[in-house]
Amino acid sequence: MRVLIVEDEPELMSYLSLLLGNAGLVVDRTDSVEAALAALRTAPFDIAVVDRRLPDGDGLSIVKAMAKTENRPAFLMLTARDAKPDVIEGLNGGADDYLVKPFEPGELIARVRVLARRRHPKRSLVLNAGNLSLDLEGRNASVGMETLDLRRREALILEALVQRTGRVVTRDVLIEAVYGFDDLIESNTLEAQISRLRRKLRDAGADVEITSLRGIGYILKKVEPAF
Ligand code: CA
Repeated sequence: MRVLIVEDEPELMSYLSLLLGNAGLVVDRTDSVEAALAALRTAPFDIAVVDRRLPDGDGLSIVKAMAKTENRPAFLMLTARDAKPDVIEGLNGGADDYLVKPFEPGELIARVRVLARRRHPKRSLVLNAGNLSLDLEGRNASVGMETLDLRRREALILEALVQRTGRVVTRDVLIEAVYGFDDLIESNTLEAQISRLRRKLRDAGADVEITSLRGIGYILKKVEPAF
């Protein structure tokens, strides 16, 4: 799940990034209407958390500009203004939800989860592939009774692969699902994470494995029986 934060206050931005990152989302950050629109037109986002008061305009103009586009994210607006008309204006303007600052961290996460569920209603919260089970809410993976100790990005990689079990997932799709724009991706970062993940699956006795297709991507499939 990928989220774009549009906020011009550096402290609040760091706080929001930390909260949403810890909740298992891939976070990208922008601080103006213009930068947000550029980001939204460049990559698919599931959710955008948008401040109303931005240096170059009202955050609501982002919602309006994206209204008719195909990959419009769910918009959660933030505002310091607590005037009811402002909230009503936001919701009428096409925002999916509204949160007034200051807010409780738990409330932000809960609202983002509601938007995520609404966006992917059919996405089960527990995904299975063979004897591997991945709990998206708790970000836990287990094989039988054994829990895999996964780092955040390893869990995101596994999520992207399990959702497409048996199908090829290109390197670009994986990178988009796992990293934000600002993340420094060295050429072998993904490969290193995949190889750790592969080892963890094997050590836990998973009956699925990650196979590389050189130059194309990866596929999660049943372990071929050895003869
Ligand atoms: Ca602001």
